[in-house]
Amino acid sequence: MRNCLLIFFFLIGSFVSAQQVRIGVFHSKKISQITLQVSSGEYRVFGDTTFLKTLHAEESMSVKTIINDVSISVDGVGFWKFAKIFIVPSKNNSSLKYTTTHPVYKARIYDDGVELSTAKSKLKIVNIVDMEDYLSGVIESEGGGGKHLDYYKVQAVMSRTYALKNEKRHRKEGFQLCDGVHCQAYHKKLTHTPKIRQAVKETKGEVLVDARNKLVTSFFSANCGGQTNDASYVWNTSVSYIESFIDTFCIHTRQSTWTKKISKNAWKNFLKKQYNVTEEQVGKLLYNFDQEQRKAFYIHPSLGVPLRDLRKKFKLKSIFFSTHLEGEFVVLNGRGFGHGVGLCQEGAMNMAKNHISYDRIARFYFKDVRVIDYYKELYFKQEFRALEH
Ligand SMILES: [Zn+2]
Ligand SMILES: [Zn+2]
Repeated sequence: MRNCLLIFFFLIGSFVSAQQVRIGVFHSKKISQITLQVSSGEYRVFGDTTFLKTLHAEESMSVKTIINDVSISVDGVGFWKFAKIFIVPSKNNSSLKYTTTHPVYKARIYDDGVELSTAKSKLKIVNIVDMEDYLSGVIESEGGGGKHLDYYKVQAVMSRTYALKNEKRHRKEGFQLCDGVHCQAYHKKLTHTPKIRQAVKETKGEVLVDARNKLVTSFFSANCGGQTNDASYVWNTSVSYIESFIDTFCIHTRQSTWTKKISKNAWKNFLKKQYNVTEEQVGKLLYNFDQEQRKAFYIHPSLGVPLRDLRKKFKLKSIFFSTHLEGEFVVLNGRGFGHGVGLCQEGAMNMAKNHISYDRIARFYFKDVRVIDYYKELYFKQEFRALEH
Protein backbone atom coordinates (compact mmCIF):
# COMPACT_ATOMS: atom_id res chain seq x y z
CA MET A 1 0.00 0.00 0.00
CA ARG A 2 2.77 2.37 1.00
CA ASN A 3 4.65 1.69 -2.24
CA CYS A 4 1.51 2.24 -4.31
CA LEU A 5 1.05 5.54 -2.59
CA LEU A 6 4.62 6.59 -3.25
CA ILE A 7 4.21 5.76 -6.92
CA PHE A 8 1.02 7.72 -6.89
CA PHE A 9 2.73 10.75 -5.32
CA PHE A 10 5.48 10.44 -7.89
CA LEU A 11 2.97 10.43 -10.75
CA ILE A 12 1.11 13.37 -9.31
CA GLY A 13 4.42 15.13 -8.71
CA SER A 14 5.40 14.69 -12.34
CA PHE A 15 2.58 17.03 -13.30
CA VAL A 16 4.65 19.85 -11.93
CA SER A 17 8.33 19.25 -12.65
CA ALA A 18 11.45 17.47 -11.50
CA GLN A 19 13.22 19.93 -9.22
CA GLN A 20 11.06 20.75 -6.22
CA VAL A 21 11.88 22.72 -3.09
CA ARG A 22 10.27 22.74 0.35
CA ILE A 23 9.60 26.26 1.64
CA GLY A 24 8.29 27.00 5.15
CA VAL A 25 5.63 29.65 4.57
CA PHE A 26 4.10 31.98 7.19
CA HIS A 27 7.25 30.82 8.97
CA SER A 28 7.56 33.64 11.51
CA LYS A 29 3.82 33.65 12.29
CA LYS A 30 2.05 31.55 14.86
CA ILE A 31 -0.78 30.18 12.77
CA SER A 32 -3.23 27.74 14.33
CA GLN A 33 -5.90 27.72 11.62
CA ILE A 34 -5.85 28.20 7.86
CA THR A 35 -8.25 27.86 4.92
CA LEU A 36 -6.90 26.60 1.62
CA GLN A 37 -8.88 27.29 -1.52
CA VAL A 38 -8.14 26.09 -5.04
CA SER A 39 -7.20 29.18 -7.02
CA SER A 40 -6.39 27.26 -10.22
CA GLY A 41 -6.13 23.60 -11.26
CA GLU A 42 -7.14 20.70 -9.04
CA TYR A 43 -5.81 18.96 -5.93
CA ARG A 44 -5.99 15.68 -4.04
CA VAL A 45 -6.00 15.68 -0.26
CA PHE A 46 -4.33 13.00 1.85
CA GLY A 47 -4.40 12.58 5.63
CA ASP A 48 -1.19 10.70 6.41
CA THR A 49 -1.48 7.78 3.93
CA THR A 50 -5.25 7.97 3.45
CA PHE A 51 -6.79 9.60 0.40
CA LEU A 52 -9.51 11.94 1.62
CA LYS A 53 -10.95 13.83 -1.29
CA THR A 54 -10.41 15.81 -4.48
CA LEU A 55 -10.50 19.58 -4.31
CA HIS A 56 -11.87 21.14 -7.48
CA ALA A 57 -11.67 24.76 -8.64
CA GLU A 58 -12.88 27.24 -6.01
CA GLU A 59 -13.39 24.50 -3.39
CA SER A 60 -11.77 25.02 -0.03
CA MET A 61 -10.96 23.26 3.20
CA SER A 62 -9.74 24.44 6.54
CA VAL A 63 -7.00 22.98 8.67
CA LYS A 64 -6.35 23.63 12.32
CA THR A 65 -3.94 22.38 14.90
CA ILE A 66 -4.91 20.40 17.99
CA ILE A 67 -1.87 19.86 20.23
CA ASN A 68 0.21 17.38 18.24
CA ASP A 69 -2.19 16.52 15.44
CA VAL A 70 -3.58 18.49 12.57
CA SER A 71 -7.32 18.33 12.29
CA ILE A 72 -9.12 19.28 9.13
CA SER A 73 -12.61 20.22 8.23
CA VAL A 74 -13.86 20.32 4.68
CA ASP A 75 -16.34 23.10 4.02
CA GLY A 76 -17.38 22.87 7.63
CA VAL A 77 -18.55 19.26 7.33
CA GLY A 78 -16.67 16.53 9.16
CA PHE A 79 -13.45 16.50 11.15
CA TRP A 80 -10.43 14.23 10.96
CA LYS A 81 -7.21 14.08 12.94
CA PHE A 82 -3.89 13.29 11.30
CA ALA A 83 -0.17 13.84 11.89
CA LYS A 84 0.25 15.26 8.39
CA ILE A 85 -2.00 16.55 5.65
CA PHE A 86 -0.76 16.57 2.04
CA ILE A 87 -2.53 18.64 -0.59
CA VAL A 88 -1.08 17.51 -3.89
CA PRO A 89 -1.71 19.08 -7.32
CA SER A 90 -3.27 16.73 -9.86
CA LYS A 91 -3.16 19.15 -12.79
CA ASN A 92 -0.53 21.46 -14.24
CA ASN A 93 -0.45 25.09 -13.07
CA SER A 94 -2.37 24.42 -9.87
CA SER A 95 -2.28 27.02 -7.11
CA LEU A 96 -3.88 27.46 -3.71
CA LYS A 97 -5.02 30.54 -1.83
CA TYR A 98 -3.81 30.46 1.81
CA THR A 99 -6.10 32.44 4.12
CA THR A 100 -5.06 32.32 7.75
CA THR A 101 -8.10 32.49 10.00
CA HIS A 102 -6.37 32.38 13.36
CA PRO A 103 -4.69 34.83 13.53
CA VAL A 104 -5.64 36.72 10.38
CA TYR A 105 -2.91 37.80 7.93
CA LYS A 106 -3.14 38.95 4.34
CA ALA A 107 -4.07 35.99 2.09
CA ARG A 108 -1.41 34.63 -0.25
CA ILE A 109 -1.52 32.48 -3.36
CA TYR A 110 1.22 29.88 -3.88
CA ASP A 111 1.85 27.49 -6.74
CA ASP A 112 1.87 23.70 -6.37
CA GLY A 113 1.39 21.60 -3.23
CA VAL A 114 1.43 21.97 0.53
CA GLU A 115 2.17 19.79 3.54
CA LEU A 116 0.71 20.66 6.94
CA SER A 117 1.67 19.37 10.36
CA THR A 118 1.96 20.68 13.89
CA ALA A 119 5.20 21.84 15.51
CA LYS A 120 5.44 23.65 18.85
CA SER A 121 1.65 24.06 19.02
CA LYS A 122 1.45 25.92 15.72
CA LEU A 123 0.88 24.87 12.15
CA LYS A 124 3.94 24.06 10.09
CA ILE A 125 3.01 24.97 6.55
CA VAL A 126 5.41 23.74 3.88
CA ASN A 127 4.85 24.77 0.27
CA ILE A 128 6.25 22.01 -1.95
CA VAL A 129 6.94 23.91 -5.09
CA ASP A 130 8.74 23.65 -8.40
CA MET A 131 12.09 25.46 -8.11
CA GLU A 132 11.34 27.72 -11.08
CA ASP A 133 7.90 28.69 -9.69
CA TYR A 134 9.54 29.44 -6.33
CA LEU A 135 12.23 31.66 -7.93
CA SER A 136 9.61 33.56 -9.93
CA GLY A 137 7.70 34.28 -6.69
CA VAL A 138 10.91 35.37 -4.93
CA ILE A 139 11.96 37.79 -7.67
CA GLU A 140 8.55 39.42 -7.75
CA SER A 141 8.30 39.51 -3.93
CA GLU A 142 11.71 41.15 -3.63
CA GLY A 143 11.89 43.47 -6.60
CA GLY A 144 8.56 44.19 -8.26
CA GLY A 145 8.01 44.92 -11.93
CA GLY A 146 9.22 47.29 -14.62
CA LYS A 147 12.82 46.08 -15.08
CA HIS A 148 14.66 44.81 -18.15
CA LEU A 149 14.88 41.10 -18.98
CA ASP A 150 18.62 40.72 -18.33
CA TYR A 151 18.22 42.25 -14.89
CA TYR A 152 15.62 39.61 -14.02
CA LYS A 153 17.91 36.97 -15.48
CA VAL A 154 20.82 37.93 -13.25
CA GLN A 155 18.42 37.93 -10.29
CA ALA A 156 17.15 34.49 -11.27
CA VAL A 157 20.70 33.10 -11.41
CA MET A 158 21.59 34.66 -8.04
CA SER A 159 18.38 33.50 -6.32
CA ARG A 160 18.83 29.97 -7.65
CA THR A 161 22.46 29.99 -6.48
CA TYR A 162 21.30 31.12 -3.04
CA ALA A 163 18.56 28.49 -2.84
CA LEU A 164 20.90 25.64 -3.75
CA LYS A 165 23.75 26.84 -1.56
CA ASN A 166 21.43 27.17 1.45
CA GLU A 167 19.19 24.18 0.91
CA LYS A 168 20.04 22.78 4.34
CA ARG A 169 19.40 25.99 6.24
CA HIS A 170 16.12 24.81 7.82
CA ARG A 171 16.74 21.09 7.59
CA LYS A 172 16.01 20.51 11.27
CA GLU A 173 12.58 22.08 10.82
CA GLY A 174 11.72 19.78 7.92
CA PHE A 175 12.03 22.20 5.01
CA GLN A 176 14.81 23.84 3.01
CA LEU A 177 14.23 27.60 3.12
CA CYS A 178 11.83 29.95 4.88
CA ASP A 179 9.71 32.66 3.23
CA GLY A 180 11.28 35.64 5.03
CA VAL A 181 14.36 37.81 4.46
CA HIS A 182 16.29 35.36 6.66
CA CYS A 183 16.39 33.30 3.44
CA GLN A 184 14.67 34.97 0.47
CA ALA A 185 11.37 36.87 0.67
CA TYR A 186 8.69 34.67 -0.89
CA HIS A 187 5.27 36.11 -0.20
CA LYS A 188 3.28 34.85 -3.15
CA LYS A 189 3.37 33.19 -6.51
CA LEU A 190 4.37 35.27 -9.51
CA THR A 191 1.32 37.26 -10.57
CA HIS A 192 2.01 40.50 -12.38
CA THR A 193 5.29 40.26 -14.30
CA PRO A 194 5.44 37.64 -17.11
CA LYS A 195 8.96 38.86 -17.93
CA ILE A 196 10.15 37.34 -14.63
CA ARG A 197 8.78 33.94 -15.67
CA GLN A 198 10.61 34.31 -19.00
CA ALA A 199 13.89 35.21 -17.25
CA VAL A 200 13.63 32.22 -14.88
CA LYS A 201 12.79 29.88 -17.75
CA GLU A 202 15.58 31.12 -20.02
CA THR A 203 18.16 30.65 -17.25
CA LYS A 204 16.75 27.32 -16.07
CA GLY A 205 19.26 25.48 -13.87
CA GLU A 206 21.90 28.23 -14.14
CA VAL A 207 23.99 29.21 -11.11
CA LEU A 208 27.04 31.32 -10.33
CA VAL A 209 30.24 29.52 -9.29
CA ASP A 210 33.65 30.83 -8.23
CA ALA A 211 37.08 29.88 -9.61
CA ARG A 212 36.99 26.63 -7.59
CA ASN A 213 33.54 25.74 -8.99
CA LYS A 214 31.83 26.38 -5.64
CA LEU A 215 28.47 28.16 -5.50
CA VAL A 216 29.04 31.81 -4.60
CA THR A 217 27.24 33.69 -1.84
CA SER A 218 25.12 36.05 -3.89
CA PHE A 219 25.72 39.31 -2.03
CA PHE A 220 23.76 42.27 -3.34
CA SER A 221 22.67 45.70 -2.19
CA ALA A 222 20.46 48.47 -3.55
CA ASN A 223 23.18 50.91 -4.63
CA CYS A 224 26.96 50.87 -4.05
CA GLY A 225 27.33 54.66 -4.40
CA GLY A 226 29.80 54.44 -7.29
CA GLN A 227 32.32 52.12 -5.67
CA THR A 228 31.54 48.60 -4.52
CA ASN A 229 32.62 47.58 -1.04
CA ASP A 230 35.15 45.10 0.20
CA ALA A 231 33.47 42.29 2.19
CA SER A 232 36.01 42.71 4.99
CA TYR A 233 34.85 46.34 5.57
CA VAL A 234 31.44 44.98 6.45
CA TRP A 235 31.92 41.54 7.96
CA ASN A 236 35.62 41.33 8.88
CA THR A 237 36.22 38.47 6.47
CA SER A 238 37.38 38.67 2.90
CA VAL A 239 35.75 36.71 0.08
CA SER A 240 37.82 35.62 -2.95
CA TYR A 241 35.29 36.75 -5.59
CA ILE A 242 34.52 40.12 -3.98
CA GLU A 243 36.71 43.15 -4.47
CA SER A 244 36.14 46.89 -4.32
CA PHE A 245 36.01 48.69 -7.68
CA ILE A 246 34.53 51.77 -9.33
CA ASP A 247 30.98 51.32 -10.62
CA THR A 248 29.80 54.16 -12.85
CA PHE A 249 26.51 52.45 -13.72
CA CYS A 250 24.73 53.54 -10.54
CA ILE A 251 25.87 57.11 -9.89
CA HIS A 252 22.96 59.01 -11.39
CA THR A 253 20.20 56.85 -9.98
CA ARG A 254 17.53 57.30 -7.34
CA GLN A 255 19.49 56.09 -4.33
CA SER A 256 22.97 57.18 -5.35
CA THR A 257 23.29 59.98 -2.75
CA TRP A 258 21.88 60.95 0.64
CA THR A 259 22.39 63.54 3.38
CA LYS A 260 21.71 63.41 7.08
CA LYS A 261 22.15 65.88 9.95
CA ILE A 262 23.10 64.60 13.36
CA SER A 263 23.49 66.79 16.45
CA LYS A 264 27.09 67.59 17.23
CA ASN A 265 26.63 66.43 20.83
CA ALA A 266 25.23 63.04 19.88
CA TRP A 267 28.14 62.49 17.49
CA LYS A 268 30.78 63.68 19.97
CA ASN A 269 29.35 61.71 22.89
CA PHE A 270 29.14 58.47 20.96
CA LEU A 271 32.77 58.70 19.79
CA LYS A 272 33.96 59.52 23.30
CA LYS A 273 31.92 56.91 25.10
CA GLN A 274 32.51 54.01 22.73
CA TYR A 275 36.05 54.65 21.49
CA ASN A 276 37.50 57.34 23.75
CA VAL A 277 38.09 59.56 20.72
CA THR A 278 37.77 63.25 21.65
CA GLU A 279 38.06 66.75 20.17
CA GLU A 280 41.12 67.38 22.39
CA GLN A 281 42.82 64.44 20.75
CA VAL A 282 41.99 64.89 17.05
CA GLY A 283 40.74 68.50 16.86
CA LYS A 284 38.38 69.42 14.00
CA LEU A 285 38.94 66.04 12.38
CA LEU A 286 36.28 64.78 14.77
CA TYR A 287 33.67 66.38 12.50
CA ASN A 288 35.52 66.70 9.19
CA PHE A 289 35.99 63.40 7.50
CA ASP A 290 36.60 62.90 3.83
CA GLN A 291 35.84 59.71 1.98
CA GLU A 292 36.65 60.08 -1.70
CA GLN A 293 37.35 56.35 -1.94
CA ARG A 294 35.75 53.79 0.35
CA LYS A 295 37.36 53.42 3.74
CA ALA A 296 36.72 51.02 6.61
CA PHE A 297 37.42 53.35 9.56
CA TYR A 298 36.40 56.85 10.62
CA ILE A 299 39.21 59.49 10.65
CA HIS A 300 42.10 56.99 10.86
CA PRO A 301 42.32 53.19 11.33
CA SER A 302 44.55 53.67 14.42
CA LEU A 303 41.60 55.18 16.31
CA GLY A 304 39.59 51.97 15.82
CA VAL A 305 36.19 53.43 14.87
CA PRO A 306 34.69 51.14 12.20
CA LEU A 307 32.34 53.00 9.86
CA ARG A 308 29.90 50.09 10.12
CA ASP A 309 29.45 50.93 13.85
CA LEU A 310 28.49 54.52 12.96
CA ARG A 311 26.07 53.22 10.35
CA LYS A 312 24.39 51.00 12.90
CA LYS A 313 24.24 53.59 15.67
CA PHE A 314 22.90 56.47 13.53
CA LYS A 315 20.87 54.28 11.13
CA LEU A 316 22.75 55.51 8.05
CA LYS A 317 21.94 54.32 4.54
CA SER A 318 25.57 53.33 3.91
CA ILE A 319 29.10 53.60 5.31
CA PHE A 320 30.24 55.57 2.23
CA PHE A 321 29.95 59.15 3.59
CA SER A 322 31.95 62.31 4.32
CA THR A 323 31.21 64.71 7.18
CA HIS A 324 31.50 68.43 7.99
CA LEU A 325 30.19 70.74 10.67
CA GLU A 326 27.33 73.21 10.18
CA GLY A 327 26.56 75.07 13.45
CA GLU A 328 25.41 72.53 16.00
CA PHE A 329 25.08 69.73 13.46
CA VAL A 330 27.37 67.23 11.83
CA VAL A 331 26.28 66.98 8.21
CA LEU A 332 26.82 63.69 6.47
CA ASN A 333 26.94 63.52 2.68
CA GLY A 334 26.60 59.91 1.73
CA ARG A 335 26.60 57.73 -1.34
CA GLY A 336 24.72 54.52 -2.01
CA PHE A 337 22.22 52.45 -0.06
CA GLY A 338 23.08 49.17 1.64
CA HIS A 339 26.34 47.38 2.37
CA GLY A 340 27.63 47.83 -1.19
CA VAL A 341 29.13 44.33 -1.39
CA GLY A 342 28.65 42.27 -4.57
CA LEU A 343 25.97 43.11 -7.10
CA CYS A 344 24.70 46.69 -7.09
CA GLN A 345 21.02 46.47 -8.03
CA GLU A 346 20.63 49.95 -9.50
CA GLY A 347 23.89 49.53 -11.43
CA ALA A 348 22.75 46.14 -12.74
CA MET A 349 19.38 47.61 -13.78
CA ASN A 350 21.20 50.30 -15.72
CA MET A 351 23.50 47.77 -17.38
CA ALA A 352 20.50 45.66 -18.46
CA LYS A 353 18.85 48.81 -19.82
CA ASN A 354 21.99 49.34 -21.90
CA HIS A 355 21.71 45.86 -23.43
CA ILE A 356 24.48 44.26 -21.40
CA SER A 357 23.81 40.54 -20.98
CA TYR A 358 23.09 38.96 -17.61
CA ASP A 359 26.25 36.87 -17.47
CA ARG A 360 28.40 39.93 -18.19
CA ILE A 361 26.55 41.78 -15.42
CA ALA A 362 27.30 38.91 -13.01
CA ARG A 363 30.94 38.80 -14.05
CA PHE A 364 31.22 42.58 -13.64
CA TYR A 365 30.18 42.46 -9.98
CA PHE A 366 31.83 39.16 -8.99
CA LYS A 367 35.47 38.41 -9.79
CA ASP A 368 36.46 35.19 -11.62
CA VAL A 369 32.98 33.69 -11.59
CA ARG A 370 31.12 31.68 -14.21
CA VAL A 371 27.48 31.06 -14.95
CA ILE A 372 27.04 27.29 -15.32
CA ASP A 373 24.19 24.83 -15.70
CA TYR A 374 24.11 23.31 -12.22
CA TYR A 375 22.30 20.10 -13.12
CA LYS A 376 24.43 19.38 -16.16
CA GLU A 377 27.67 19.85 -14.22
CA LEU A 378 26.28 17.84 -11.33
CA TYR A 379 25.36 15.06 -13.75
CA PHE A 380 28.87 15.01 -15.20
CA LYS A 381 30.36 15.01 -11.72
CA GLN A 382 28.27 11.98 -10.81
CA GLU A 383 29.18 10.22 -14.07
CA PHE A 384 32.83 10.93 -13.38
CA ARG A 385 32.55 9.54 -9.85
CA ALA A 386 30.80 6.43 -11.18
CA LEU A 387 33.70 5.84 -13.59
CA GLU A 388 36.20 6.16 -10.77
CA HIS A 389 34.60 3.37 -8.75
ZN1 LIG B 1 15.22 31.20 6.57
ZN1 LIG C 1 26.85 50.63 -7.98
